[in-house]
Amino acid sequence: MTETAKPSSLGTEPIKASELDPKFKYQLIKKHGSEKILKCFQCGTCTSDCPVARYSDSYRPRTLIQMAQLGLKDRVLKSDTLWLCAACFTCTDRCPQDVEVAAVIRVFRNLAAETGCVPQVFKDQAQSLLESGYAYKIPELRVKKRESQGLPPLPKGNAENVKKVLKGVKFIDKVQKPEGGQPSGQ
Ligand code: SF4
Ligand code: SF4
Repeated sequence: MTETAKPSSLGTEPIKASELDPKFKYQLIKKHGSEKILKCFQCGTCTSDCPVARYSDSYRPRTLIQMAQLGLKDRVLKSDTLWLCAACFTCTDRCPQDVEVAAVIRVFRNLAAETGCVPQVFKDQAQSLLESGYAYKIPELRVKKRESQGLPPLPKGNAENVKKVLKGVKFIDKVQKPEGGQPSGQ
């Protein structure tokens, strides 16, 4: 696939000087995974070979990296497209500058999560993990159907261990609903 000029928030929205955070790139080069972001010379190979970009009009790893280099921190971290990456590492394998693009996207996501910018669907999955140990709630109908087919019961999810992991990575407070309320970072 060749990279085509598809709309992106960088290409369609005028950039205001007040949006630019010149320190952002220096923060990134200190983070594990995005140390080499400044080596990107915008060749577009990552986007051209990305299987997600092939089917999306908006997901462009090259553009996210360009936005970060320019200092458009909020646009990068608040971008919904950030969460489309499938972490397949094709871009990392193909980048001629050894930028480790997939790791850069992971760093962006971690920074976004720290500020609570996580799409609701992932918050819901995390909430389900906390409650049941499964990313998705298994419908009662499915459980009954298994029984009727003579299949063994599903193994119990280990919600306690999941809680420990999510607490350890400080993700839990971003997703857990306080009593009767919404998760923080909404
Ligand atoms: S392949 Fe590497 S150098 Fe080329 S645009 Fe992507 S990150 Fe930049
Ligand atoms: S790791 Fe993400 S950005 Fe890189 S090629 Fe795969 S889906 Fe695209």
